[in-house]
Amino acid sequence: MSGPVQVATPESLLRPEVLALSAYAVPDASGLVKLDAMENPYSLPSALAAELGALLGAAAVNRYPEADARTLKAAIRRALDVPAGCDILLGNGSDEIIQLLAMAVAKPGAVLASVEPTFVMFRMIAAFTGLRHASCTLRADFTLDVDAVLRMLEAERPALMFLATPNNPTGNTFARADIERIAAATPGLLVVDEAYYAFGDDSHLELAARLPNVLVMRTFSKLGMAGLRLGFLVGSPAWLGQLDKLRLPYNVNMLTQLAATRLLDSYPELAAQAATIRGDRSTLAEALRAIPGAEVFPSDANFVLFRIPKAAALFDALVARGVLIKNVSRAHPLLADCLRVTVGTPEENRRFLAALHDAVAVLG
Ligand code: PMP
Repeated sequence: MSGPVQVATPESLLRPEVLALSAYAVPDASGLVKLDAMENPYSLPSALAAELGALLGAAAVNRYPEADARTLKAAIRRALDVPAGCDILLGNGSDEIIQLLAMAVAKPGAVLASVEPTFVMFRMIAAFTGLRHASCTLRADFTLDVDAVLRMLEAERPALMFLATPNNPTGNTFARADIERIAAATPGLLVVDEAYYAFGDDSHLELAARLPNVLVMRTFSKLGMAGLRLGFLVGSPAWLGQLDKLRLPYNVNMLTQLAATRLLDSYPELAAQAATIRGDRSTLAEALRAIPGAEVFPSDANFVLFRIPKAAALFDALVARGVLIKNVSRAHPLLADCLRVTVGTPEENRRFLAALHDAVAVLG
């Protein structure tokens, strides 16, 4: 006779790399000035909100959404310079696209590469999908050490490499020539993550058209649509046609498709908001630079990274004063004593700066 069936526990059943992960932390921001997540601080104009309300109210939500989302893809092409020879693949946020790319290359022993410090999901998704993660440390000023990246590519032969430019959480843009050298040297796919493209001056869409192993990923999260969850990938039909097989059916829901299509028809207004945020970023960075002991890093994104003595204590003191930013000081040795603040409305930025001045004075 066999003994009693051993009931599974998470520890006995789950993959060790899943057990070892910590969940992507999203702190509770209720009641706080929310400057932690690179959201656009402006809500929709009321006329547009009413129009969307009517549009979504009339949606046939008893039906599945347009399976190939061709209406939304056409709106993306109208709004942005997607090269004619390239296809578009949509994701439920660009996070989903990172996961889909990782799943597609996850042969035993395959490697996902990135630089450090960068967006944490590259490393986390490598763990989810059973890929080994390899990385190359940025220089202390957060620029790419291209020779070191090339050595890493040679040693690790990654199937997939992610470069976020402008990079999160550092805010800087990587030099185009450096990215081209990496694209030419990588034995696998290079994904240029342009989540913050609207706040800088660079685009690699042309590279995706010219080099078959380069894909460009973008998101609308930073452009006022974080709640809709919509990201996209641009690249050759040969790659995107294969990747599309892994996309779950209807991954972008009907309400998102409808709302994003309408909002993209107002793309000039979204771009104008991004331009306003860029201007406010300069004002914010200058005000931070005036704080004794603060080192402010150049940013082409909608946030500013700064180093300041007693960063962790200051972060807590800011929360106590009603302002939530992001403490990245423990995320990587190069980020010691660094905090990241999203550019908010001028009023939010003023409240953050007032709270910071007060906290610095109290903490000495
Ligand atoms: N890439 C980078 C560099 C990011 O900073 C983020 C969000 N913080 C994402 C991708 C994911 O964005 P989303 O899933 O909202 O499209």
